[in-house]
This record gives sequence, structure tokens and C-alpha cells, in this order.
Amino acid sequence: MLRESAIRRLALSVGFDDCLTAPAARLDKEAAYMDSWVDAGFAGNMTYLERNRELRYDIRRLVPGAKTVVVCLLGFAKSGHDYHRTVKSLLYNLQQQIEDYLKENDLWQDDWISPTQHIFCDSAPVLERSWAVRAGLGFFGLNRQLIHPTLGSLVHPGELVLNIPCFQDVERKPLPETCIQCMRCVNACPAKALGQTDWDARRCIAYTTHRCLVCQEVCPYNTI
Ligand code: SF4
Ligand code: SF4
Repeated sequence: MLRESAIRRLALSVGFDDCLTAPAARLDKEAAYMDSWVDAGFAGNMTYLERNRELRYDIRRLVPGAKTVVVCLLGFAKSGHDYHRTVKSLLYNLQQQIEDYLKENDLWQDDWISPTQHIFCDSAPVLERSWAVRAGLGFFGLNRQLIHPTLGSLVHPGELVLNIPCFQDVERKPLPETCIQCMRCVNACPAKALGQTDWDARRCIAYTTHRCLVCQEVCPYNTI
């Protein structure tokens, strides 16, 4: 069987900063949170979040035959001015490396990737950060960012979906459930967009102008 440790080794060799996998499934808990957040009006003008909900919540609807979601992280420092292009290019490189590995190890099967889109970076209805959390790469901070325990939140996720199962043999580090005691991001947010449980996109400056990183700059996970 394809091992996660092999995929992770290949992902690091092509240039990613971290990588783990998760079995393709419906994101039930995340779907319930998203539904309540969107229905409460916090999403503001992001009306696309009201459409294609089941596609977004169950990757098997988006990628027929999906069995494994490979989630890779790339730090801001390596991603250049066009992170979509950089991350996707590394994902295609990883796909080729995995293909070679499958052939070398008698694990090859013709339909190991879907003929439809199976590589994602901010380009389709995929809950990318939720998949990163599912895979064990990090947790959601109070600033609603994905926080990796050593890379912090200044990372871009990208996903490669495989139609073959993967044995998860990489030991996960214990992750905090929450970081609620710190509150630096909540107190520093100039727009008061962060609360103890929710992020209000209607107030968030990054959502309206894309020019605010305050809640990430003050986060201790980005300075350790
Ligand atoms: S990006 Fe800026 S405005 Fe938005 S939640 Fe973070 S600190 Fe607040
Ligand atoms: S600043 Fe503190 S409360 Fe906010 S995400 Fe970072 S650790 Fe969590």
C-alpha cells in the first residue's frame, strides 16, 4: 500500500515545507460550522460560499473516485509573487514523483488520479485549511488562520487528490485545540473583526482590500 511517509518525503524533496494526508471524506464538522457562519451573515459579499456547498464539503463530489487528499504547505518566503503558480507547479512535480514511485514499487494503477481537476490551490470549492487541519498539519487559530506549530500561519496550502488509499504512518504531533488564552490577534485587530469564536468578514480589512496581516504579525506562532 502507498505510505504517507513516502509521499511526505517526495513532497519535501520537491520543495514543500510540510505535507501530510487525510482520507477523502465529507467534512461534516467543518460543514456544520461553515453553514452556521454563512447563514449568520458573517461571509458578507462572499456569496459564492452559499453556492456549491456540498461540492465544497465533500471532495469526492468534486473529484470522482477520490480516496486520499495530500495536503502540502509552502511558506510565504518561498512562494514568490504568484503563489498559485508556484504551489501548483510544485504539486505537478510531486504528482510526477509519486507516479514514478508507484511504478518502481509495483503499486501502479491506471486510475490513480482523476482525469478531472485533482490539483488545487485557491482555485476551486475546496476547504483547503480544513483539509490541512484534518491531515494533522495544524489547527485553526483565533485569527481563523491555519497555524502550523513550527511554520506558523504564513503558509500557502495546496492539495493533490489521489484515487488510491494511503496508509497514514507519519506520527502526528499533539496540537492545541485552541489558542484562546493569548488573544493578541483579537486585541490588535484594527477593525474589531475577530471575536472569541468568530471572524466577521464584513469588517475584515484583508477581505475588503487584501492589505492587512496584523492578526498574523502579532501571533506568537509567527515569531518562534
Ligand atoms: S486581517 Fe486585519 S482586519 Fe482582518 S481580522 Fe486580521 S487584523 Fe483584523
Ligand atoms: S495571536 Fe494568539 S490567539 Fe491569535 S491566533 Fe495567534 S496564538 Fe491564537
